[in-house]
Formats: sequence, C-alpha cells, structure tokens
Amino acid sequence: MTTFEDVVSKAKSVAETAGKKTSDFIEVTKLRLDVAELEREMTAIFEGLGRMVYDAKKSGEDASSLVDDCVERLDECQSQIDTLRRTIDEYRYAVRCKTCGLPNPDDAVYCKKCGAKIER
Ligand SMILES: [Zn+2]
Repeated sequence: MTTFEDVVSKAKSVAETAGKKTSDFIEVTKLRLDVAELEREMTAIFEGLGRMVYDAKKSGEDASSLVDDCVERLDECQSQIDTLRRTIDEYRYAVRCKTCGLPNPDDAVYCKKCGAKIER
C-alpha cells in the first residue's frame, strides 16, 4: 500500500532530479553561448586580419607584429573554445564507466569503449 508519505517523498525526489537537470541545461546553454561568442570574435579577427594584410601590402607598411597579435588572440580563443566544449561534453556524458573511466551518455547501458555494463 502506498502511504501519503511515499507519495510526498517520491514527488520530492522527482522535483530534485528535475531541478538538477534544469540547472545542467542552463549551464550547458550558457557554455554554448560562450562558445558562439568566441567563434564570432574569431571570425571578426580573421576578417580584420585579411583587411590588415591587404592594407599593409598596399601601403608598404610592416604589419607583422599586428598579425602576430591576431594569431595569438586566435589561438587563445581556440583553446578557450576547446575547454568549453570539453566541459559541455562532461555535462552531456554524465555517466562514467567504472571499468575504463570513459564518460558515456546518460542513457547508456554498456560502455561505448570497453563494453562493460554501466553501473549507476
Ligand atoms: Zn568502459
């Protein structure tokens, strides 16, 4: 027989799980926005770089130190994007295989790398 307390505690645990999922979702959305912003910045730098090289060639000026600055900033953006993507993957692949340690999708039954059964 299901008591009133059972119903209440079940409702509570569902609410807690839902709350966790929601905050994960918000976090992933935020991370994706950060990635999109960095990608926009990179596109802008690439475009600016092209114009800068063109203008320098036309005017005979040396733009190499400015080019170096752009390359450095592009590399920074790229490594930030890589870090953000890894973090996003960790949220998406929340279940770690106990045998080999590989993160697997939430609904995985067997590890996609070593084939061990995923224990929760
Ligand atoms: Zn495994």
